[in-house]
Amino acid sequence: MTTGPSTRAVHAGLPPAEQGAPFIAGPVFAAPFHLQGALDSAPYGYGRGGNPTWSAVEAALGALEDAESVLFSSGMAAVCALLEPALGAGDVLVAARDGYPGVRGVATDRLAPRGVEVRFVPTDTAAIVAACPGATLVWIETPSNPALDVCDITAVAEAAHAAGARLAVDNTLATPLGQRPLDLGADAVMYSATKALSGHSDLVLGAVGVRDPDWAEALRAHRWQGGAIAGPFEAWLLHRSLATLALRLERQSANALALARFLRERREVRDVRHPGLEDHPQHAVAARQMRLAGPLVGFTLDGAERAQRFLAALELVAEATSFGGVHSTAERRARWGTDAVADGFIRFSAGCEDADDLLADVERALQHG
Ligand code: PLP
Repeated sequence: MTTGPSTRAVHAGLPPAEQGAPFIAGPVFAAPFHLQGALDSAPYGYGRGGNPTWSAVEAALGALEDAESVLFSSGMAAVCALLEPALGAGDVLVAARDGYPGVRGVATDRLAPRGVEVRFVPTDTAAIVAACPGATLVWIETPSNPALDVCDITAVAEAAHAAGARLAVDNTLATPLGQRPLDLGADAVMYSATKALSGHSDLVLGAVGVRDPDWAEALRAHRWQGGAIAGPFEAWLLHRSLATLALRLERQSANALALARFLRERREVRDVRHPGLEDHPQHAVAARQMRLAGPLVGFTLDGAERAQRFLAALELVAEATSFGGVHSTAERRARWGTDAVADGFIRFSAGCEDADDLLADVERALQHG
């Protein structure tokens, strides 16, 4: 049966109905499982290798993008599982210069010293395509975080494949309900499930999705060896949270767009960025490849002090890093010192509050902050 995104999210990974059984089984807490005789005589033997609660959430994530999903202890563990085994001396990584800084750190501190050539490029389709010849792996994040630039996944996938490279997309911001990179030609997608996938700001997890079964097996082997595994309770919370992903993301995207439109009219606010805004430089590409534009809005106030006063004056919006939660959050991104943004640049993650309340809070903080 062909179903819509909300239906898929609600039903993802549920086992067939069984008389007297719950809809989703509770978390299974186990280190060893009973395993008599041959190692392959039971589906689970030891908790670092597999767990029924992981299997359930991996089935759910896989169903959302028609892929095999592999769960990790964090988004960064998922990044490392994709990058480290794939790249050795003489290989070439093309990676976003303006994406999540943790990925740049892995490239610079772990891969480059091993002899991997790293080419950092802006999130710009032509620049990425131009950097592809000779590449082994191309890593993009679209929309990029925090600048919210957008590149054309189909065009980048074609250029990467023409060069004999594979394309991996950090799809954390959009989630599989906002954008489906594998359908657009990407070979792997990566998620910080810490963000909108789980959406309640109460866990740290990561996941990778691939359609090549050998690659999925290699990712599981990497997890078994490296040990970056999810705790069963967090895995269960993620599965439970996925049921409301469509609802949450629709509300967050609508709130983000309403906020961006409101901010654009304010004299004291500059450079309002949201992929759903008609005047975003890559709006046409975003509209073509994204179903929902996601929770993030970027904008700039006049200097660090002004931005901090604004953040302190907000009542409904928590000053915090991360994004994609049901509670709105915002931070002055330059405080990390890792991104090329103005001192007064605010990364705002719209939550699921009523839009009128959110806008009123922001307006008040702009006036009195
Ligand atoms: N990718 C993006 C786009 C992120 O925003 C983050 C975290 O902020 C990560 C990856 C890393 O994920 P985690 O913090 O779950 O390790």
